[in-house]
Amino acid sequence: MQMDSVKYLIIGGSAAGMAAAQTIRQQDAYGSIAVLSAEADMPYFRPMIPYVVTGKKSAKDIMLSGNGPYVATGIQILTSARADSVNADSKTVSINNTWRMSYDKVLFATGSSPYIPPEIQGTDTNGVFALRTLADARGMAARAEITDHAVMLGGGLLNLKAAFALLARGVKVTLVVYSPEVLSQLMEPEDAGLIRIALDRAGLKIKTGLAAEGILSDKKGVSGIALSDGSELPCKMVCIGKGVRPSTAFLSNSGIELDRGVVVDRHTACNIPDAFSAGDAAVTFDPVTGQRITTGLWTNAVEMGRCAGYNITGKRTAYAGTFGIMNATQVADEPFVSMGIVHTKGTDYEVHASASGATYRKMVFSPDGNRLVGMTLIGDIAGAGMYRYVIRENMPVKEIKSLIISKKLHYGHFM
Ligand SMILES: Cc1cc2nc3c(=O)[nH]c(=O)nc-3n(C[C@H](O)[C@H](O)[C@H](O)COP(=O)(O)OP(=O)(O)OC[C@H]3O[C@@H](n4cnc5c(N)ncnc54)[C@H](O)[C@@H]3O)c2cc1C
Repeated sequence: MQMDSVKYLIIGGSAAGMAAAQTIRQQDAYGSIAVLSAEADMPYFRPMIPYVVTGKKSAKDIMLSGNGPYVATGIQILTSARADSVNADSKTVSINNTWRMSYDKVLFATGSSPYIPPEIQGTDTNGVFALRTLADARGMAARAEITDHAVMLGGGLLNLKAAFALLARGVKVTLVVYSPEVLSQLMEPEDAGLIRIALDRAGLKIKTGLAAEGILSDKKGVSGIALSDGSELPCKMVCIGKGVRPSTAFLSNSGIELDRGVVVDRHTACNIPDAFSAGDAAVTFDPVTGQRITTGLWTNAVEMGRCAGYNITGKRTAYAGTFGIMNATQVADEPFVSMGIVHTKGTDYEVHASASGATYRKMVFSPDGNRLVGMTLIGDIAGAGMYRYVIRENMPVKEIKSLIISKKLHYGHFM
Protein backbone atom coordinates (compact mmCIF):
# COMPACT_ATOMS: atom_id res chain seq x y z
CA MET A 1 0.00 0.00 0.00
CA GLN A 2 1.32 3.43 -0.97
CA MET A 3 2.66 5.45 2.01
CA ASP A 4 3.25 9.21 2.00
CA SER A 5 4.48 11.29 4.88
CA VAL A 6 3.80 14.81 6.02
CA LYS A 7 4.76 16.94 9.01
CA TYR A 8 1.29 18.32 9.72
CA LEU A 9 -1.77 16.31 8.71
CA ILE A 10 -5.18 17.98 8.95
CA ILE A 11 -8.22 15.79 8.53
CA GLY A 12 -11.14 17.96 7.40
CA GLY A 13 -10.78 20.98 5.12
CA SER A 14 -13.33 23.46 6.35
CA ALA A 15 -13.50 26.25 8.97
CA ALA A 16 -11.38 24.62 11.67
CA GLY A 17 -9.03 22.72 9.37
CA MET A 18 -8.25 25.62 7.06
CA ALA A 19 -7.86 28.11 9.92
CA ALA A 20 -5.42 25.69 11.53
CA ALA A 21 -3.53 25.13 8.27
CA GLN A 22 -3.21 28.86 7.79
CA THR A 23 -1.95 29.40 11.33
CA ILE A 24 0.54 26.55 11.05
CA ARG A 25 1.90 28.06 7.85
CA GLN A 26 2.32 31.43 9.60
CA GLN A 27 4.23 29.73 12.44
CA ASP A 28 6.25 27.30 10.35
CA ALA A 29 7.12 28.58 6.90
CA TYR A 30 8.49 25.30 5.52
CA GLY A 31 6.90 22.32 7.33
CA SER A 32 4.77 20.24 4.96
CA ILE A 33 1.02 20.50 5.50
CA ALA A 34 -1.60 18.21 3.97
CA VAL A 35 -5.36 18.66 4.35
CA LEU A 36 -7.62 15.68 3.68
CA SER A 37 -11.19 16.40 2.67
CA ALA A 38 -13.81 13.74 2.14
CA GLU A 39 -15.73 16.11 -0.12
CA ALA A 40 -15.09 16.40 -3.86
CA ASP A 41 -15.15 20.21 -3.67
CA MET A 42 -12.29 22.41 -2.56
CA PRO A 43 -12.90 24.13 0.82
CA TYR A 44 -15.82 26.54 0.80
CA PHE A 45 -17.77 28.75 3.18
CA ARG A 46 -20.39 26.29 4.44
CA PRO A 47 -22.89 28.86 5.86
CA MET A 48 -23.34 30.16 2.30
CA ILE A 49 -24.66 26.92 0.79
CA PRO A 50 -28.31 27.99 1.17
CA TYR A 51 -27.50 30.62 -1.50
CA VAL A 52 -26.47 27.83 -3.84
CA VAL A 53 -29.91 26.30 -3.24
CA THR A 54 -31.59 29.58 -4.13
CA GLY A 55 -29.31 30.05 -7.14
CA LYS A 56 -28.11 33.46 -5.89
CA LYS A 57 -24.52 32.17 -5.58
CA SER A 58 -22.52 29.67 -7.56
CA ALA A 59 -20.10 27.20 -6.02
CA LYS A 60 -17.26 29.42 -7.24
CA ASP A 61 -18.63 32.40 -5.29
CA ILE A 62 -18.33 30.64 -1.96
CA MET A 63 -14.88 29.04 -2.25
CA LEU A 64 -12.47 29.89 0.58
CA SER A 65 -9.52 30.17 -1.75
CA GLY A 66 -9.10 33.80 -2.70
CA ASN A 67 -11.56 34.97 -0.05
CA GLY A 68 -10.44 36.46 3.27
CA PRO A 69 -7.27 35.15 4.88
CA TYR A 70 -7.26 31.80 3.14
CA VAL A 71 -4.18 32.03 1.02
CA ALA A 72 -3.29 28.39 0.70
CA THR A 73 0.46 28.94 0.28
CA GLY A 74 2.17 25.60 0.27
CA ILE A 75 -0.80 23.79 1.76
CA GLN A 76 -1.62 20.57 -0.06
CA ILE A 77 -5.38 20.01 -0.19
CA LEU A 78 -6.51 16.51 -1.14
CA THR A 79 -10.20 16.27 -2.07
CA SER A 80 -12.25 13.05 -2.16
CA ALA A 81 -9.77 11.75 0.41
CA ARG A 82 -11.57 10.22 3.38
CA ALA A 83 -9.61 9.09 6.41
CA ASP A 84 -11.05 5.72 7.35
CA SER A 85 -8.91 4.86 10.35
CA VAL A 86 -6.08 6.23 12.46
CA ASN A 87 -3.24 4.30 14.09
CA ALA A 88 -2.06 6.64 16.82
CA ASP A 89 0.90 4.39 17.76
CA SER A 90 2.46 4.30 14.30
CA LYS A 91 1.12 7.83 13.57
CA THR A 92 -0.48 6.78 10.30
CA VAL A 93 -3.84 7.34 8.69
CA SER A 94 -5.53 5.06 6.18
CA ILE A 95 -7.19 6.96 3.32
CA ASN A 96 -10.01 5.61 1.13
CA ASN A 97 -8.80 2.15 2.18
CA THR A 98 -6.20 2.42 -0.56
CA TRP A 99 -3.20 4.33 0.77
CA ARG A 100 -1.67 5.60 3.99
CA MET A 101 -0.10 8.78 5.22
CA SER A 102 2.24 9.16 8.18
CA TYR A 103 2.40 12.37 10.18
CA ASP A 104 4.31 14.10 12.95
CA LYS A 105 1.23 15.96 14.20
CA VAL A 106 -2.41 15.46 13.34
CA LEU A 107 -5.54 17.60 13.67
CA PHE A 108 -9.01 16.08 13.63
CA ALA A 109 -11.25 18.76 12.11
CA THR A 110 -13.88 16.53 10.57
CA GLY A 111 -16.84 18.65 11.65
CA SER A 112 -20.26 17.14 11.99
CA SER A 113 -22.83 15.29 9.91
CA PRO A 114 -26.62 15.46 9.88
CA TYR A 115 -28.44 13.10 12.22
CA ILE A 116 -30.95 11.02 10.29
CA PRO A 117 -33.49 9.52 12.72
CA PRO A 118 -33.55 5.75 12.06
CA GLU A 119 -37.26 5.54 12.98
CA ILE A 120 -38.28 7.52 9.89
CA GLN A 121 -38.88 5.05 7.07
CA GLY A 122 -37.59 5.77 3.57
CA THR A 123 -34.90 8.40 4.25
CA ASP A 124 -32.81 6.99 1.40
CA THR A 125 -35.49 7.91 -1.17
CA ASN A 126 -34.52 10.17 -4.05
CA GLY A 127 -35.54 13.72 -3.06
CA VAL A 128 -34.67 13.41 0.64
CA PHE A 129 -31.93 15.78 1.77
CA ALA A 130 -30.14 17.01 4.86
CA LEU A 131 -28.42 20.24 3.87
CA ARG A 132 -24.78 20.03 4.94
CA THR A 133 -22.52 20.08 1.90
CA LEU A 134 -22.20 21.89 -1.38
CA ALA A 135 -23.17 18.62 -3.06
CA ASP A 136 -26.39 18.58 -1.00
CA ALA A 137 -27.08 22.19 -2.03
CA ARG A 138 -26.62 21.33 -5.71
CA GLY A 139 -28.91 18.32 -5.28
CA MET A 140 -31.60 20.43 -3.59
CA ALA A 141 -31.39 23.10 -6.27
CA ALA A 142 -31.86 20.46 -8.98
CA ARG A 143 -34.76 18.77 -7.17
CA ALA A 144 -36.41 22.17 -6.57
CA GLU A 145 -36.91 22.37 -10.34
CA ILE A 146 -39.57 19.65 -10.13
CA THR A 147 -40.86 20.44 -6.64
CA ASP A 148 -44.02 22.44 -5.94
CA HIS A 149 -44.11 21.60 -2.24
CA ALA A 150 -41.32 20.61 0.17
CA VAL A 151 -41.56 19.39 3.75
CA MET A 152 -38.85 20.26 6.23
CA LEU A 153 -38.51 18.06 9.30
CA GLY A 154 -37.16 19.98 12.31
CA GLY A 155 -37.46 23.57 13.46
CA GLY A 156 -33.79 24.35 14.08
CA LEU A 157 -31.91 27.23 12.58
CA LEU A 158 -30.23 25.27 9.78
CA ASN A 159 -33.51 23.82 8.62
CA LEU A 160 -35.08 27.28 8.66
CA LYS A 161 -32.26 28.46 6.41
CA ALA A 162 -32.90 25.57 4.06
CA ALA A 163 -36.65 26.35 4.17
CA PHE A 164 -36.07 29.98 3.22
CA ALA A 165 -33.78 28.98 0.40
CA LEU A 166 -36.63 26.92 -1.09
CA LEU A 167 -39.22 29.63 -0.45
CA ALA A 168 -36.94 32.02 -2.34
CA ARG A 169 -37.16 29.65 -5.32
CA GLY A 170 -40.95 29.80 -5.21
CA VAL A 171 -41.38 26.35 -3.65
CA LYS A 172 -44.16 26.06 -1.03
CA VAL A 173 -42.68 24.87 2.25
CA THR A 174 -44.19 23.20 5.31
CA LEU A 175 -42.08 22.89 8.43
CA VAL A 176 -42.97 19.92 10.64
CA VAL A 177 -41.68 20.37 14.18
CA TYR A 178 -41.94 17.89 17.01
CA SER A 179 -41.43 20.58 19.70
CA PRO A 180 -44.18 23.04 20.61
CA GLU A 181 -42.30 25.83 18.84
CA VAL A 182 -39.48 26.46 16.32
CA LEU A 183 -35.89 27.09 17.49
CA SER A 184 -36.52 25.16 20.72
CA GLN A 185 -32.76 24.63 21.25
CA LEU A 186 -32.15 28.37 21.13
CA MET A 187 -35.07 29.75 23.13
CA GLU A 188 -38.12 28.79 25.12
CA PRO A 189 -41.43 28.63 23.23
CA GLU A 190 -42.74 31.70 25.08
CA ASP A 191 -39.71 33.70 23.90
CA ALA A 192 -40.13 32.79 20.23
CA GLY A 193 -43.35 34.75 19.62
CA LEU A 194 -41.86 37.46 17.40
CA ILE A 195 -39.90 34.90 15.39
CA ARG A 196 -43.05 32.90 14.80
CA ILE A 197 -44.89 36.01 13.60
CA ALA A 198 -42.04 36.74 11.17
CA LEU A 199 -42.06 33.16 9.85
CA ASP A 200 -45.84 33.24 9.33
CA ARG A 201 -45.52 36.57 7.54
CA ALA A 202 -42.84 35.12 5.25
CA GLY A 203 -45.24 32.40 4.11
CA LEU A 204 -43.77 29.39 5.89
CA LYS A 205 -46.42 26.87 6.95
CA ILE A 206 -45.61 25.38 10.36
CA LYS A 207 -47.04 22.26 12.01
CA THR A 208 -45.87 21.75 15.59
CA GLY A 209 -46.11 18.75 17.91
CA LEU A 210 -45.87 16.26 15.04
CA ALA A 211 -43.28 13.69 14.01
CA ALA A 212 -42.63 12.11 10.61
CA GLU A 213 -43.22 8.37 10.40
CA GLY A 214 -42.30 7.59 6.86
CA ILE A 215 -41.49 9.01 3.46
CA LEU A 216 -43.84 8.01 0.65
CA SER A 217 -42.48 7.50 -2.83
CA ASP A 218 -43.27 6.77 -6.45
CA LYS A 219 -40.93 6.04 -9.34
CA LYS A 220 -39.70 9.67 -9.38
CA GLY A 221 -38.74 9.59 -5.72
CA VAL A 222 -40.45 11.38 -2.82
CA SER A 223 -44.20 11.78 -3.27
CA GLY A 224 -45.28 12.62 0.27
CA ILE A 225 -44.76 12.15 3.95
CA ALA A 226 -46.75 10.27 6.60
CA LEU A 227 -47.08 12.09 9.93
CA SER A 228 -47.67 10.86 13.48
CA ASP A 229 -51.28 12.15 13.58
CA GLY A 230 -52.14 9.76 10.71
CA SER A 231 -52.21 12.50 8.06
CA GLU A 232 -50.19 12.53 4.84
CA LEU A 233 -48.72 15.56 3.13
CA PRO A 234 -48.02 15.31 -0.60
CA CYS A 235 -44.57 16.74 -1.46
CA LYS A 236 -41.67 16.10 -3.83
CA MET A 237 -38.85 16.99 -1.48
CA VAL A 238 -38.08 16.35 2.18
CA CYS A 239 -35.29 18.04 4.07
CA ILE A 240 -34.24 16.58 7.40
CA GLY A 241 -32.90 19.01 9.99
CA LYS A 242 -32.74 16.97 13.17
CA GLY A 243 -29.41 18.22 14.40
CA VAL A 244 -25.86 17.10 13.72
CA ARG A 245 -23.39 14.71 15.30
CA PRO A 246 -19.57 15.00 15.31
CA SER A 247 -18.04 13.00 12.45
CA THR A 248 -15.72 10.78 14.44
CA ALA A 249 -16.61 7.19 13.47
CA PHE A 250 -13.20 6.77 11.82
CA LEU A 251 -11.57 7.27 15.24
CA SER A 252 -13.25 4.36 16.99
CA ASN A 253 -10.56 1.85 18.04
CA SER A 254 -7.84 4.51 17.63
CA GLY A 255 -7.35 5.08 21.36
CA ILE A 256 -8.37 8.73 20.92
CA GLU A 257 -10.84 9.61 23.69
CA LEU A 258 -14.33 10.26 22.35
CA ASP A 259 -17.41 11.57 24.15
CA ARG A 260 -19.84 12.39 21.32
CA GLY A 261 -16.90 14.27 19.74
CA VAL A 262 -13.13 14.23 20.20
CA VAL A 263 -12.28 15.14 23.79
CA VAL A 264 -9.63 17.85 24.02
CA ASP A 265 -8.00 19.71 26.88
CA ARG A 266 -7.91 23.50 27.23
CA HIS A 267 -5.09 23.54 24.66
CA THR A 268 -7.02 21.63 21.98
CA ALA A 269 -4.89 18.49 22.59
CA CYS A 270 -6.26 14.94 22.58
CA ASN A 271 -5.39 12.28 25.16
CA ILE A 272 -2.63 10.96 22.86
CA PRO A 273 0.55 12.95 22.08
CA ASP A 274 0.73 14.99 18.87
CA ALA A 275 -3.00 14.71 18.19
CA PHE A 276 -5.36 17.70 18.34
CA SER A 277 -8.94 18.51 17.46
CA ALA A 278 -10.99 21.63 16.71
CA GLY A 279 -14.34 22.76 15.36
CA ASP A 280 -17.62 20.86 15.34
CA ALA A 281 -15.78 17.54 15.78
CA ALA A 282 -14.22 18.53 19.11
CA VAL A 283 -15.69 18.43 22.59
CA THR A 284 -14.70 21.61 24.34
CA PHE A 285 -16.11 23.41 27.39
CA ASP A 286 -18.73 26.06 28.05
CA PRO A 287 -17.22 29.05 29.90
CA VAL A 288 -20.55 29.72 31.65
CA THR A 289 -21.37 26.22 32.92
CA GLY A 290 -17.90 24.64 32.69
CA GLN A 291 -19.56 21.61 31.08
CA ARG A 292 -18.28 19.66 28.10
CA ILE A 293 -20.01 20.70 24.90
CA THR A 294 -19.67 20.53 21.15
CA THR A 295 -19.98 23.70 19.12
CA GLY A 296 -21.86 24.25 15.88
CA LEU A 297 -20.72 27.58 14.58
CA TRP A 298 -18.33 28.61 11.83
CA THR A 299 -16.80 31.42 13.90
CA ASN A 300 -16.13 29.10 16.83
CA ALA A 301 -14.58 26.53 14.50
CA VAL A 302 -12.25 29.15 13.01
CA GLU A 303 -11.24 30.44 16.43
CA MET A 304 -10.61 26.95 17.77
CA GLY A 305 -8.82 25.87 14.58
CA ARG A 306 -6.52 28.85 14.85
CA CYS A 307 -5.83 28.04 18.49
CA ALA A 308 -5.06 24.43 17.54
CA GLY A 309 -2.70 25.68 14.82
CA TYR A 310 -0.67 27.51 17.47
CA ASN A 311 -0.61 24.52 19.79
CA ILE A 312 0.38 22.13 17.00
CA THR A 313 3.39 24.29 16.22
CA GLY A 314 4.39 24.46 19.88
CA LYS A 315 3.04 27.91 20.73
CA ARG A 316 1.00 26.90 23.77
CA THR A 317 -2.33 28.72 23.57
CA ALA A 318 -5.42 28.22 25.72
CA TYR A 319 -8.82 28.08 24.08
CA ALA A 320 -11.38 30.32 25.75
CA GLY A 321 -14.24 27.83 25.39
CA THR A 322 -17.49 28.26 23.59
CA PHE A 323 -21.04 28.89 24.71
CA GLY A 324 -23.40 25.94 24.57
CA ILE A 325 -25.74 28.33 22.85
CA MET A 326 -24.46 31.24 20.88
CA ASN A 327 -26.24 32.56 17.86
CA ALA A 328 -26.53 35.95 16.33
CA THR A 329 -28.45 35.76 13.10
CA GLN A 330 -31.78 36.47 11.53
CA VAL A 331 -34.69 34.45 10.27
CA ALA A 332 -37.28 35.97 7.98
CA ASP A 333 -35.57 39.37 8.41
CA GLU A 334 -35.99 39.16 12.18
CA PRO A 335 -32.59 39.60 13.86
CA PHE A 336 -32.00 37.72 17.08
CA VAL A 337 -29.30 36.70 19.49
CA SER A 338 -29.45 33.75 21.82
CA MET A 339 -26.54 33.13 24.12
CA GLY A 340 -25.56 31.27 27.28
CA ILE A 341 -28.32 29.96 29.56
CA VAL A 342 -31.72 30.75 28.04
CA HIS A 343 -33.89 27.81 29.15
CA THR A 344 -34.95 29.01 32.57
CA LYS A 345 -38.36 27.47 33.19
CA GLY A 346 -38.40 25.70 36.56
CA THR A 347 -34.95 27.01 37.55
CA ASP A 348 -33.69 29.58 40.09
CA TYR A 349 -32.11 31.89 37.52
CA GLU A 350 -33.06 35.54 37.89
CA VAL A 351 -34.87 36.51 34.69
CA HIS A 352 -35.68 39.99 33.43
CA ALA A 353 -37.86 39.77 30.31
CA SER A 354 -39.57 42.62 28.52
CA ALA A 355 -41.46 42.97 25.25
CA SER A 356 -41.96 46.26 23.50
CA GLY A 357 -43.53 46.47 20.04
CA ALA A 358 -41.29 44.62 17.63
CA THR A 359 -38.61 43.75 20.18
CA TYR A 360 -38.19 41.16 22.90
CA ARG A 361 -35.45 41.03 25.48
CA LYS A 362 -34.67 38.44 28.12
CA MET A 363 -31.62 38.81 30.34
CA VAL A 364 -30.73 35.87 32.58
CA PHE A 365 -28.68 36.30 35.75
CA SER A 366 -27.25 33.64 38.06
CA PRO A 367 -29.52 32.62 40.96
CA ASP A 368 -27.55 34.91 43.32
CA GLY A 369 -28.02 37.72 40.80
CA ASN A 370 -24.29 38.47 40.59
CA ARG A 371 -23.49 37.25 37.08
CA LEU A 372 -25.09 37.66 33.67
CA VAL A 373 -25.32 34.09 32.31
CA GLY A 374 -27.51 34.31 29.23
CA MET A 375 -29.75 36.40 27.01
CA THR A 376 -32.30 36.30 24.22
CA LEU A 377 -32.68 39.45 22.12
CA ILE A 378 -35.17 39.64 19.24
CA GLY A 379 -35.75 42.57 16.92
CA ASP A 380 -33.20 44.88 18.52
CA ILE A 381 -29.84 43.19 19.08
CA ALA A 382 -27.86 46.32 19.94
CA GLY A 383 -25.24 45.72 22.62
CA ALA A 384 -25.10 41.95 22.06
CA GLY A 385 -21.30 41.96 21.71
CA MET A 386 -20.97 43.80 25.00
CA TYR A 387 -23.23 41.39 26.84
CA ARG A 388 -21.36 38.49 25.28
CA TYR A 389 -18.18 39.87 26.80
CA VAL A 390 -19.80 40.17 30.25
CA ILE A 391 -21.08 36.58 30.05
CA ARG A 392 -17.91 35.05 28.67
CA GLU A 393 -15.63 36.82 31.17
CA ASN A 394 -17.93 35.71 33.99
CA MET A 395 -17.83 39.32 35.24
CA PRO A 396 -19.41 40.28 38.56
CA VAL A 397 -22.27 42.60 37.54
CA LYS A 398 -23.23 44.25 40.84
CA GLU A 399 -22.14 47.70 39.61
CA ILE A 400 -23.70 47.45 36.16
CA LYS A 401 -26.70 45.21 36.65
CA SER A 402 -29.32 47.97 36.68
CA LEU A 403 -27.70 49.39 33.51
CA ILE A 404 -27.92 46.00 31.81
CA ILE A 405 -31.57 45.65 32.73
CA SER A 406 -32.45 49.20 31.69
CA LYS A 407 -30.45 48.91 28.40
CA LYS A 408 -28.19 51.75 29.47
CA LEU A 409 -24.91 49.84 29.55
CA HIS A 410 -22.48 51.09 26.93
CA TYR A 411 -18.93 50.26 25.85
CA GLY A 412 -17.56 53.19 27.91
CA HIS A 413 -18.21 51.16 31.06
CA PHE A 414 -15.44 48.78 30.06
CA MET A 415 -12.78 51.38 29.34
C1 LIG B 1 -26.69 25.23 5.88
C2 LIG B 1 -25.77 25.65 6.98
C3 LIG B 1 -25.79 26.97 7.41
C4 LIG B 1 -24.96 27.38 8.44
N1 LIG B 1 -24.99 28.68 8.84
C5 LIG B 1 -24.15 29.11 9.80
C6 LIG B 1 -24.11 30.47 10.18
O1 LIG B 1 -24.87 31.30 9.69
N2 LIG B 1 -23.23 30.85 11.13
C7 LIG B 1 -22.38 29.96 11.72
O2 LIG B 1 -21.57 30.35 12.57
N3 LIG B 1 -22.39 28.65 11.38
C8 LIG B 1 -23.25 28.20 10.45
N4 LIG B 1 -23.27 26.87 10.09
C9 LIG B 1 -22.43 25.92 10.85
C10 LIG B 1 -21.00 25.91 10.34
O3 LIG B 1 -20.99 25.73 8.95
C11 LIG B 1 -20.20 24.83 11.05
O4 LIG B 1 -20.23 25.05 12.43
C12 LIG B 1 -18.77 24.81 10.56
O5 LIG B 1 -18.72 24.55 9.18
C13 LIG B 1 -17.94 23.78 11.31
O6 LIG B 1 -16.66 23.78 10.74
P1 LIG B 1 -15.68 22.54 10.90
O7 LIG B 1 -14.44 22.92 10.20
O8 LIG B 1 -15.59 22.15 12.33
O9 LIG B 1 -16.40 21.32 10.17
P2 LIG B 1 -17.20 21.16 8.82
O10 LIG B 1 -17.50 22.47 8.19
O11 LIG B 1 -18.33 20.23 9.11
O12 LIG B 1 -16.17 20.45 7.87
C14 LIG B 1 -15.60 19.21 8.16
C15 LIG B 1 -15.02 18.64 6.88
O13 LIG B 1 -14.36 17.41 7.20
C16 LIG B 1 -14.71 16.46 6.21
N5 LIG B 1 -14.58 15.12 6.79
C17 LIG B 1 -15.42 14.49 7.65
N6 LIG B 1 -14.97 13.27 7.94
C18 LIG B 1 -13.82 13.13 7.23
C19 LIG B 1 -12.89 12.07 7.11
N7 LIG B 1 -13.03 10.93 7.79
N8 LIG B 1 -11.82 12.24 6.29
C20 LIG B 1 -11.64 13.41 5.59
N9 LIG B 1 -12.51 14.45 5.68
C21 LIG B 1 -13.57 14.30 6.50
C22 LIG B 1 -16.13 16.80 5.85
O14 LIG B 1 -16.49 16.24 4.61
C23 LIG B 1 -16.06 18.32 5.82
O15 LIG B 1 -15.64 18.78 4.58
C24 LIG B 1 -24.07 26.44 9.06
C25 LIG B 1 -24.05 25.11 8.61
C26 LIG B 1 -24.89 24.72 7.59
C27 LIG B 1 -24.86 23.28 7.13
